Amino acid sequence: MKKRFFRYLTLIVLLCLLTAQAIPASALDTVRFYTTEMQYAALSDFAFQAGAVDFSASHKYRDQLLTDDQKALYDLFVCSTPSDNVCMMDLETLPPLPAVSDPRFQTELAAYLSELVLPAYAAAVQDTPMLFWTGRIGYSCSYSIRGTELESVTVICSAVPSDGFSGADYDSMCREIQDVLQSVSFETGNRRELLRQFHDYLCETIVYIDSSYAHNIYGALVKGEAVCEGYAKSFKLFCDLYEIPCMLITGNAVTSTGFGPHAWNAVRMEDGNWYAVDVTWDDQDEIYYDFFLIGSQTVPASFLKITFEESHLADGDFYGNGVVKMDFPALSAQTYTHTHVYDEGTVTVTPTCQNEGTVYYACLGCEIGYSETLSKLAHDYVGSRCSMCGAQAPVFGDCTGDSVLNCKDVTRLARYLATRNPLTGVSELAVSEGADCNGDGKINSADLTCLLRYLANIDPATGKSSVELGK
Ligand SMILES: [Zn+2]
Ligand SMILES: [Zn+2]
Repeated sequence: MKKRFFRYLTLIVLLCLLTAQAIPASALDTVRFYTTEMQYAALSDFAFQAGAVDFSASHKYRDQLLTDDQKALYDLFVCSTPSDNVCMMDLETLPPLPAVSDPRFQTELAAYLSELVLPAYAAAVQDTPMLFWTGRIGYSCSYSIRGTELESVTVICSAVPSDGFSGADYDSMCREIQDVLQSVSFETGNRRELLRQFHDYLCETIVYIDSSYAHNIYGALVKGEAVCEGYAKSFKLFCDLYEIPCMLITGNAVTSTGFGPHAWNAVRMEDGNWYAVDVTWDDQDEIYYDFFLIGSQTVPASFLKITFEESHLADGDFYGNGVVKMDFPALSAQTYTHTHVYDEGTVTVTPTCQNEGTVYYACLGCEIGYSETLSKLAHDYVGSRCSMCGAQAPVFGDCTGDSVLNCKDVTRLARYLATRNPLTGVSELAVSEGADCNGDGKINSADLTCLLRYLANIDPATGKSSVELGK
């Protein structure tokens, strides 16, 4: 610890020298810097309150950060590695501080830094299981003053490797994690089923032991040893890989033996609601599903007879000292049950005037869908031909197919309708397409009425009827 701090201090001094060179001496009054120790002293001065987010759309703690500088730092943390863990960033927005000569200046600058860095680091670690190597954050800044005005602030952060991690091992550890991820295959399709496979895989491969890497994905996935944090971060990693909205939730848990820090997950399902998953507690002698996609009011079958909400007290208190409180989604009251939620449907076979079509409705949450038949389209007559199939346009009212309209057509249509089986739609007699006298796409008694009116209204002088067919 001491050694690490010394190295860190050296870096800051170096940075100050560099900064001092970059700014013309005449313009520059002072370059000062803070040490990590000084900022920790100022921590009690603030508590970060997360920005309000809409959890129907958000599943990242990043969305709760309040400023662009916090988000920019978060993005740097996400990319950092043990060998490249020092992030330096010029602040876009200068902190609103008392005059440099004011004794409060330094304390307020320190508080500003804490409020900037601590939430960004917390959000990055909670959102990113691959940041498995870091356990703490060190930070300081250098700043320049022109006259009495603060001119620029450069924040210097160092994500500190957890005990046991060294930069030398990092690449090989990443490869080992990748190897595990490539060796497991989960079947895709049904979100609930996929989550069950993650849950079961972790229960089957992990032994609950508080060993060196037990708090992160390396211990859980590679060593097969983890405590709650390792289980929950691995579960989140799988969800991230399969693009299932999932958050790491931290707080305290109530057990028959007491009360202590705990980590679990919340998952958003396709119904838009959030459900809890606690893989750690389900990893018993056999795999339990007491804590698989359950609601806040669910009472597990095999544990204390209290609701999930009573046994799992989420607090979002990342550092455990109240300094950074992140928000987390409210759970559905009840355990998840799958109700199919269908999409708008995809036409798999396009209907024509010759053939029926098919539309397929897929469930958004599982692989079960269903098909519906789309009726044949009516011919699209352009002039005397169908534009789709080229069929000759019918003579409306011609039921016998002789192209002449007379009482034979009435007889044929009447007999066709009288002998038609209502269930099968099959009749003793065939009629030609012109039997659809009114052109509504159906052949029924309305067509018979229409044909009779046509014939009754023929003017003997011209041979033309005052009633129009096909309308
Ligand atoms: Zn479904
Ligand atoms: Zn056609």
